[in-house]
Amino acid sequence: MKRILNKISDYKKSMSNVKQSSEHSVFQEYEHIPMEIAIYNAQGEYLYMNYQYLPDPDEKALLIGKSDRDYCQLKGIGIESALERKLFFYEAIEKKKTVQFTEKLNYTEKGKILYFKRIFKPVLSKDGKEVLYVILFGSNLTAIILAQKELKYLAYFDKVTGLKNRDAFYQELDRIILESARTDPQRMVAVLFCGLDNFKMVNDSLGHAVGDLVLKEVAERMNRMLRATDYMFRLGGDEFTVIIQNIKNEYDAGQVAEKLIQEFDQPFVIGAHEINYLSLSVGVVIFPRDGKSSEELVRNADAAMYNVKNREKNDFQFFSEEMTQLTNDRLKIVRNLKSVISKKDYENQFKLFYQPIIEKEKEGNYRIAGSEALIRWTNPELGQVSPAHFIPIAEESNLINQFGSWILEKSINDFIHMTEKHKQNLYVSVNLSAKQLRSSQTVKTIAQLIKHTGINPQHLQLEITETSYMEDESNTIDNMNALTDLGCNFAIDDFGVGFASLVYLQKIPAKSIKIDRSFINCMGADTKNKELVKSIIQIGQNLNKDVIAEGVEDLTHLDFLEDNCCRKFQGYLFSKPVALDQFETYLADHQMIMPVNRPVIDYPKN
Ligand code: C2E
Ligand code: MG
Ligand code: MG
Repeated sequence: MKRILNKISDYKKSMSNVKQSSEHSVFQEYEHIPMEIAIYNAQGEYLYMNYQYLPDPDEKALLIGKSDRDYCQLKGIGIESALERKLFFYEAIEKKKTVQFTEKLNYTEKGKILYFKRIFKPVLSKDGKEVLYVILFGSNLTAIILAQKELKYLAYFDKVTGLKNRDAFYQELDRIILESARTDPQRMVAVLFCGLDNFKMVNDSLGHAVGDLVLKEVAERMNRMLRATDYMFRLGGDEFTVIIQNIKNEYDAGQVAEKLIQEFDQPFVIGAHEINYLSLSVGVVIFPRDGKSSEELVRNADAAMYNVKNREKNDFQFFSEEMTQLTNDRLKIVRNLKSVISKKDYENQFKLFYQPIIEKEKEGNYRIAGSEALIRWTNPELGQVSPAHFIPIAEESNLINQFGSWILEKSINDFIHMTEKHKQNLYVSVNLSAKQLRSSQTVKTIAQLIKHTGINPQHLQLEITETSYMEDESNTIDNMNALTDLGCNFAIDDFGVGFASLVYLQKIPAKSIKIDRSFINCMGADTKNKELVKSIIQIGQNLNKDVIAEGVEDLTHLDFLEDNCCRKFQGYLFSKPVALDQFETYLADHQMIMPVNRPVIDYPKN
């Protein structure tokens, strides 16, 4: 803008000696010519405007002797149009030649834009040295330009649904592929090829007009499920595609496909017709794994979609069979967990098992120091599902907090029950996932449970993993501090596999560390592994933490750990996780958990 203004002022200076004409009457012949005509003096002041240019005589009277800036102001046109026009005006004067240009007038007050073809024609003195005046000819191009835009729209948009069309899809996909190669080779993009099942029946039985309305609603329903960064297209007929950019893992694409499919659960109601037989078949490909070019990706996504259509329809499939299987398993888990949560069916499907945490008292003398609560899930559709499998999925799909409080409540109640009955000095250890630890609701739940059950908070140990406190440090540490203030203890579970630095270990208020069972398991394989376990025990002890060895399966493990001053153990050597009543038999008779082939010293019950 500054550049334009400078240029104009330069021109003004150089043109100040151009003679101004005042022979208004000679211009009257232009009055009824059917195009816009305006005449300026060499300073850019209006000398004359014809009826087409400005029909209102009062406005005309106001503008004679004024500039384009005044014209724009009077007509409510953005001032930038006047500045742009001025540039062409001075070009015509300087070159003493006709200048043509296209002008866009933005009627900001009325909210409309008009386009004009403009010509500035300088009229020169007889000797050709001076510009006497400049004539502006104009014709309105708005209709033509809008028609061109409409053509462009038609070229890239689908008229029925308003979605972008096949050409736009290929253009967009090529752009994303190119961009990924340039900026981030790790980037994953998913393409979903979606085919509407049974759409032909709509057209055949209810006609194309209803068919079009159905397609419009399909587009709306599907669009609702997508994020602003996803793209959706109609390729034609009953085929749609979706591009999901920057997915974190492949499952996300499966989840989107599942959501799109669910959008067809509700019938389509078009006027008096209720259509309940439409569904969606989706083929999913992941760039770059399933194809490097748009053609290859589309071919493979199309093949995956046709596989679904040839089976039962109303489903999705990845191009890679393995991925389909994994995603389906995962989605089944999510669906069933959601159903347990919504029906509060915890008692029927979940059980807590307990595994004793053993403490060596003196040579050959062990006691049960605590019990780790471990969830078991038996689902009517899926059978028994291991927590190692479903807990990470529950965490990723943000479901863990919803049943996490049930686990806390149940394990604390079981603990109260077992200690009241068996009067032993025990603690209960409950696993908390990272998301639970991050939520302030967990602190509230635990505070309430302490209050209502009367559990001594010192007897509640919360197991967290190293990675939990590395992500979103501030919330996590705040919650850990709040729970420590309540009196609870923390143990770092699976210690050694989560890459936590010693700095973290020092910083967080944990009483114990639990050496991951993978270290104990491979102790026999290599002396280096034994050295590693030895060092972990030493680190724990130097930092004043209780060290618990997990996965103690045989006597060689136990001997080595004891020789290296580890005093707490958990593992199949003593007991697998067992149901509450079985655990109670251990409490009634500690000998039951004594490792076989060891001298058993009778343990006095307290
Ligand atoms: P974890 O907290 O490290 O629990 C120990 C796991 O090791 C348990 O598996 C236990 O059965 C198994 N284990 C114990 N001793 C031995 C042994 O000597 N040998 C072998 N091979 N395994 C042994 P489980 O019950 O399948 O639980 C797996 C993981 O699932 C748990 O690892 C924990 O991370 C998670 N989990 C279980 N229950 C819960 C829960 O209630 N809440 C949360 N957030 N996570 C849970
Ligand atoms: Mg644990
Ligand atoms: Mg563990």
